[in-house]
Amino acid sequence: MIHFQNVSVRRGERLALNSFSLQVNAGEHVAVLGPNGSGKSTLIKTITRECYPLLRPETRLEIMGQGSWNIFELRSHIGLVSNDLMAQCTRDITGRELVLSGFFGSIGVWPNNQNQPGMEAAVQTAMERLEVTHLADRWLDELSSGEARRLLIARALIHNPETLLLDEPTTSLDLTALHEVRQYMRVLAQEGVGLVLITHHLDDIIPEIDRVVLIREGQVFADGPKEEVLTSDRLSSMFRVPVQVVERSGFYHAW
Ligand code: ADP
Ligand code: MG
Repeated sequence: MIHFQNVSVRRGERLALNSFSLQVNAGEHVAVLGPNGSGKSTLIKTITRECYPLLRPETRLEIMGQGSWNIFELRSHIGLVSNDLMAQCTRDITGRELVLSGFFGSIGVWPNNQNQPGMEAAVQTAMERLEVTHLADRWLDELSSGEARRLLIARALIHNPETLLLDEPTTSLDLTALHEVRQYMRVLAQEGVGLVLITHHLDDIIPEIDRVVLIREGQVFADGPKEEVLTSDRLSSMFRVPVQVVERSGFYHAW
């Protein structure tokens, strides 16, 4: 699904990804954990081609087995939930329009977007999956952040992607919404949808996620089974502060 080998991406003066290598197979449930500024969003943006790698002979970058893509086609294949997309959800867009616009790789439907047969049915199915059909005719700026986040996840599912990319999907949610979003991630994972969950909160790592990649300063710091990676020692050296990790009923907590 995702194959990065020695990928370097410059942002401003710095290398946000520095000879970064990662392979994720379709259907895997992976968390990518790292401090702020470690390159997590750059990783996602390199997948969606908002950022481009430096051209180096040793660099290889393939998404779904393909090295070059028409970016609109690529974006329509990828189920993405991010705070950049969330931030665009402020205008007068209805819940249904938001979900439908996943077909066009946009936020909100524009006059040049052509509805094809089957799209409305797909919107209905995606909205039923996230239990947001009652929000179809509501304006986005009138919704709670949890409701808007669920609609954004429904939008990302519109093409039935094999893998969802979630960049900090629980940012700014209250406890109830946090719990709901984690529950929906669990259900989707159990249904076989692959997840690449980017986060800096250990608590987001739902029990269905079995592999954890730690990133620091644009490089992979650790990659392996959750039980081996999420230890107090490893996280303390990654975050460079003393961290205590506990596991309870499949969830991990740190303080
Ligand atoms: P994370 O998502 O892990 O917090 P990012 O991938 O957003 O990290 O950022 C990685 C590095 O790239 C950081 O040092 C950040 O300051 C830098 N960076 C991010 N966006 C930009 C930008 N638009 N211009 C310049 N530097 C940026
Ligand atoms: Mg980020």
